Amino acid sequence: MAPRTHIAVLGGGISGLSTAWYLARTAPSNVKITLIEGTKRTGGWLHSDRVADPQHPNGKGSILLERGPRSLRPQGISGLNTLEMVRELGLDSKIEPVSKSSPAAKNRYIYSHKTLHKLPSSIMGALTHPLLAAKIPRAGLDLVKGGSGQEDESIQDFITRRFGKGFSDDLISAMVHGIYAGDISKLSVRSTFGMLYHMEKDYGSIVLGMLMGGGAVETPWDLTLKEKIVKEMPDLQEFVGKTSIYSFTDGLEELSRSLEKDLVKGGRVDIHKDSIVEKLDANLDSRDVRISIKGQEPVHANAVISALPPLKLQKLLSKPYPELTHNPSVTVAVVNLVYSAEQARLASPGFGYLIPRSENSAVNHRGLLGVVFDSCAIPEQDKGESQGKTLKLTAMIGGHMFNEALSQIASGSGSGASTLDLELSGSHKEDVSDFFAKTAMDAVKKHLKIDAAPELVKVHIHHDCIPQYLVGHLQRMQTLDQSLRKDFDGLLAVTGAGYLGVSVNDCIKNAREVAEAVVSKLEEEDDGEAQLVGRQDAITGLERSWFL
Ligand SMILES: Cc1cc2nc3c(=O)[nH]c(=O)nc-3n(C[C@H](O)[C@H](O)[C@H](O)COP(=O)(O)OP(=O)(O)OC[C@H]3O[C@@H](n4cnc5c(N)ncnc54)[C@H](O)[C@@H]3O)c2cc1C
Repeated sequence: MAPRTHIAVLGGGISGLSTAWYLARTAPSNVKITLIEGTKRTGGWLHSDRVADPQHPNGKGSILLERGPRSLRPQGISGLNTLEMVRELGLDSKIEPVSKSSPAAKNRYIYSHKTLHKLPSSIMGALTHPLLAAKIPRAGLDLVKGGSGQEDESIQDFITRRFGKGFSDDLISAMVHGIYAGDISKLSVRSTFGMLYHMEKDYGSIVLGMLMGGGAVETPWDLTLKEKIVKEMPDLQEFVGKTSIYSFTDGLEELSRSLEKDLVKGGRVDIHKDSIVEKLDANLDSRDVRISIKGQEPVHANAVISALPPLKLQKLLSKPYPELTHNPSVTVAVVNLVYSAEQARLASPGFGYLIPRSENSAVNHRGLLGVVFDSCAIPEQDKGESQGKTLKLTAMIGGHMFNEALSQIASGSGSGASTLDLELSGSHKEDVSDFFAKTAMDAVKKHLKIDAAPELVKVHIHHDCIPQYLVGHLQRMQTLDQSLRKDFDGLLAVTGAGYLGVSVNDCIKNAREVAEAVVSKLEEEDDGEAQLVGRQDAITGLERSWFL
């Protein structure tokens, strides 16, 4: 018998793969599931390369390089949820944990005033910290200030109001460079640091909120999920307790590769790669969505879950949704540098360092966001004779300063081309790669005092890779929730980094929530067949926005 209901998932990044995986585990067997990905590979930004070690041309060593995300945090409900997925995929034995007692967990730095400053790990540490001590008296006002009553504001306004400008410029801007590659004067505090927003709202003070252990943003669904995982896999808590971050032996892409492999093995999901979706036409009467695919026959589905970036989704729809196009995404240049450990040594081992905004404007105009000390965190990812013999660093450059950084080449070349044109035009591609490679090497020389030349340099420029949740983001997601419900009545739901969380963990948990919610709307007909029925409470994937 032909399946009555067909659910299509658009986009094969970690969000789309996870959505398809959770659908396959929960939907009745007569529901057809299709995953449609535009490129020849799944995984999206998860991209790990195992490369030959130039120091060991005999092939007895290899190095693992990450182009995109490199580690996961096990903490929180979303961390626990990913660990459950990892276990069910049989990936436990491939986990490479970073213990909480290791230097990579304990030492995170900020580069400021020509020095690497270790970030404090305790309140006493903060009180005596050379970067922070002078700012503490002003920050003490947090205890007596009360809340602002605002629905949302920029991270900069929020932190400056509570702790003073020094804290926001010198400390928080660096942290935001590390997570969003973004500008604290533009990003929404409520959507990026929801915990701080809720501490102020609930306790009138961040310090008090922290002392009271408040601010956690957990929906009823989150709490049920946590209870279920803790009950079924109690030992995961022990791993969470002792682990700072983790990855896998062959890098983070091992997760998306395993998901794809599991989907293929399970035989429940048709995976269409190299299939660029060009248009969606929803017919509410026949409860059908026509999915037009470049150069191929259209696919028809009874529900679509889009795990595409919001701007890409808007291009498929005939009606404009301003909430899909309001936020920009930033472009980041990722530069992997591999040195011989004999010639290059870290004086201050740790996770890496970030550059605050104050430093960028004063000293560094080339858009450096920070440098990760990869081989210090997880040396086990390098194999054979390479293990322990290389110093592997990754510089992240650009983000909200990408155009500013590129203008260095534009002004140097005298071409008069706009910065983005310059980057995109083929003739300047090498200039651009060289520029980012040089920026990374100069930073390592200047900040880490490493004079040796790297054995290997790889530059990857990721266009529009990290969505920027601008002030008012959550309210816009609520508006979008209402519009999608009204216009599509359950025929279109959304998930992915563009909406309610950019971390890999958030992408996976949000994918689970939308997949399970869509399945919960399947109704049994008299003949025992499952069918999706439109309703006022149709699923959009954005229900969570009302709780945050
Ligand atoms: C440099 C970098 C470092 C990061 N570091 C970390 C980290 O250490 N830890 C962490 O937790 N997070 C990190 N992140 C964030 C995290 O990796 C991303 O937010 C997450 O991978 C996004 O996944 P996604 O599936 O939502 O989107 P994407 O990965 O963008 O997937 C979308 C998919 O849709 C496909 N697609 C697009 N248009 C179409 C179309 N028309 N038809 C069909 N398919 C289409 C794309 O090809 C892609 O495969 C990092 C991100 C970057 C860029």
